[in-house]
Amino acid sequence: MNTLPKRTLTSLAAAGLVLALSSVGTATAAAKPAAAAQGAAQGVTQQVQQAAAPRGKAAATSSPLYKTGQLANSNCSPGDLPRGSTAAYKRFLAYVTNCLNRSWATQFRKAGMSFSKPRLRIITSKVRTPCGPWGKGATGIYCGVNRTMYMLITKQDLRNPYPVGISRLMAHEYGHHVQQVSGILDYSWQARNRASQSARLLLSRRTELQAECFSAIFMNTVAETLPVPSDHWNATVDWFRKEGHKAWGVNDHGKGPTQAAWMTRGFNSGQVGTCNTWSVHPRYVT
Ligand SMILES: [Zn+2]
Repeated sequence: MNTLPKRTLTSLAAAGLVLALSSVGTATAAAKPAAAAQGAAQGVTQQVQQAAAPRGKAAATSSPLYKTGQLANSNCSPGDLPRGSTAAYKRFLAYVTNCLNRSWATQFRKAGMSFSKPRLRIITSKVRTPCGPWGKGATGIYCGVNRTMYMLITKQDLRNPYPVGISRLMAHEYGHHVQQVSGILDYSWQARNRASQSARLLLSRRTELQAECFSAIFMNTVAETLPVPSDHWNATVDWFRKEGHKAWGVNDHGKGPTQAAWMTRGFNSGQVGTCNTWSVHPRYVT
C-alpha cells in the first residue's frame, strides 16, 4: 500500500541528486594541502598512509571498499521528524549524518583506507558554494572542494517532512563524499576532462548511479531503525523510475528505470561491492 501523500512524493522532485563540483584542478588543489598537512603532522607521507588505496582508474574500478561486504549497521534511530520545526529538522539531519559517519568509517577501516568525515551545512536559503552557484531545483549538494554537504530545508520539507526521502538524499550526497575520499571522484573528473561529450555523460552516470547505490545500501542498514517502511521505499523507487531523469537537461544521472535498478540492487544486497558501477557494461548505466 502506498501511504505517502501525493504532495510528499512530488517534493522528491526538488530533492534532486545534484552533484555540484568544480573542475578537477580546483578540487585536487583543495584536497592536497589538507592531506599533506595531515601527513606532515604525523610524520608520514600521504603515499605511506594510503598505500592500500589505488589511484587513477583503479580507484574507481577496483576500490578496496568493494571487498568490505555489508555496509556496517550504525543503529540509526533519529526519532520523529515533526512538521514545522526547523530545529528538529536540523537535529534529524545531523543525527543521520553521524549514522553515515559511523557506517562508512567502519567500511574504510575494513578496506585499510584512511577516512575523514564530511562537513555538514544545513541551510534554509540557497548559498553560493566554493563549487559554484546553487544548482536550479537542488536541495542537496556535495562540494568536493571543501568536502561539505549542503542540505537545503525548504518550506515544503517543513510542511511535509518525509524522513525516508530526506535520508535517501543525505545518503546520496554522502555517497559523493565516499567517492571523494576514496579517489573515485578525482578519477571521474580527470577522465571527463579528456573525454568526448557522450563519454563524459557516461562517466557522470557511473558517478551518480554509484552515489545512489551507496545511498540505497545505507537505507538497507537503517531499514528497521530509521525506519524505512517498505511501502515508503517502494514508492520512492517508483517515483525515481518514472520521474528521476526529468530534473536534468542531459542524461547525466541515468534514465529513471536505471536509477531505480541501482536503488533496488543496493537496497536488496546492502553490500558495497554491488555498487561498482565502474566495471559494468555501459548498457547497465544508460
Ligand atoms: Zn549526485
